[in-house]
Amino acid sequence: MTRGMISIDAERCKGCQLCSTVCPQQVIHMASDCLNAKGYHPAALIDPEQLCTGCAICAVICPDICITVYRETVPKQAHNGTQEAVR
Ligand code: SF4
Ligand code: SF4
Repeated sequence: MTRGMISIDAERCKGCQLCSTVCPQQVIHMASDCLNAKGYHPAALIDPEQLCTGCAICAVICPDICITVYRETVPKQAHNGTQEAVR
């Protein structure tokens, strides 16, 4: 089983929404309640159900390289998997 998590550099984000559009799990949303220093609403991961799979589509499409993806492989019958940055 593989779970994912992303980190978004909100200050680099230009709010283009490409990542939120392509995420198959629809767990990236634009932070409408805050602005970064450039005046954009940055993207944010909102994933309370841990649906992110670490597919990295969001990171590949981001034109400003704002997204780092972490992927955790959880062995069957265990919960102490390893975590790695994939981009
Ligand atoms: S890694 Fe995949 S599932 Fe996770 S937020 Fe990015 S596009 Fe969505
Ligand atoms: S694709 Fe990159 S620049 Fe565009 S909203 Fe997502 S994180 Fe921000």
